[in-house]
Amino acid sequence: ESQLNPSYSFENFLEGDSNRLARNAGIAVANKPGGTSFNPLLIFGGVGLGKTHLAHAIGVDIKDKYPEKTVLYISAEKFTQQYIDSVKKNNRNDFIHFYQIIDVLIIDDVQFLSGKTGTQDVFFHIFNHLHQNGKQVILTSDKAPVDMQDIEQRLLSRFKWGLSAELQTPDFETRVSILKNKLYRDGVEMPEEIVEYVAKHIKTNVRELEGAIISLIAQSSFNKKEITINLAKDIVEKFVKNTKREVSIDYIQKVVSDYFQMDVNTLQSKTRKRHIVQARQLAMFFAKKYTKASLASIGSQIGQRDHATVLHACKTVDNLSSTDKQFRKYVEDLSKKLAL
Ligand code: ADP
Ligand code: MG
Repeated sequence: ESQLNPSYSFENFLEGDSNRLARNAGIAVANKPGGTSFNPLLIFGGVGLGKTHLAHAIGVDIKDKYPEKTVLYISAEKFTQQYIDSVKKNNRNDFIHFYQIIDVLIIDDVQFLSGKTGTQDVFFHIFNHLHQNGKQVILTSDKAPVDMQDIEQRLLSRFKWGLSAELQTPDFETRVSILKNKLYRDGVEMPEEIVEYVAKHIKTNVRELEGAIISLIAQSSFNKKEITINLAKDIVEKFVKNTKREVSIDYIQKVVSDYFQMDVNTLQSKTRKRHIVQARQLAMFFAKKYTKASLASIGSQIGQRDHATVLHACKTVDNLSSTDKQFRKYVEDLSKKLAL
């Protein structure tokens, strides 16, 4: 009912400098839901750094200490879907009422609400009701409230009422403890040297860190190989390669249109206005540079153009960046934004 995952506990959430504030704020909230100034508690940070885990841990602990309280964990995506369904089925009021009687509401990945004004509106009313009645709200997001886009001002200001706590990338010691804890729970033994090797090379994402250890264990048990440093090297190398993100053409179009403060539809449109044409040509140029897509495929994804148009765009960008200072700056800025 509460959608909580009991294996995501505080105990299993290893503490380090990178998460101390968020973890301790979470514990404080779990001890006194609705009774601290951390309301809402907003946990933010990059992918795979433990936001979902921590959000569950708070809920699990509250349920443990206060079994009579209703705790609900839901992703912002699912919340949005439920809201849309309720509008379709004409029971928007039931939807609102359902959420207004919850004691502890945990909404994961609120950045998903960007641009969804209807859902933001209903959430604003639910939030106010809960807050006024001393109920606890816990939110997670991939960005700090100041950096969130397309979220209404009045909702952003509510997000800032309580505490925003960041999850940063864990340092080496914390990464080692996370791995050791995982191995211990899985009952697997692994030489210290190997654990440290993995922790040393996979730095930015705890999910990947765990993923590498899981493949290491699997490789060694399925292939009956001993876990050696060479096997660890192989796996870490593959892991780092596999996870090196290939930028998508969609992502490139988003970055370029954000940079020129236009929307993607404008960038793709048939208009011949110079700044829009240039933005489109830059998107094509970067798609050629950073993806493996063919000219034809790039063209069809960027506003239904043919391969000759893309080729022309790439040449134009090359020419302009050697003759036009302002244009060169665009290319440099965008390269930085798109850098992997
Ligand atoms: P996010 O929601 O920020 O993308 P998750 O909460 O899904 O990240 O965490 C990814 C994985 O890393 C999960 O398996 C989680 O248990 C683990 N993890 C993250 N931080 C820690 C930590 N401090 N201690 C133990 N495990 C962690
Ligand atoms: Mg998550």
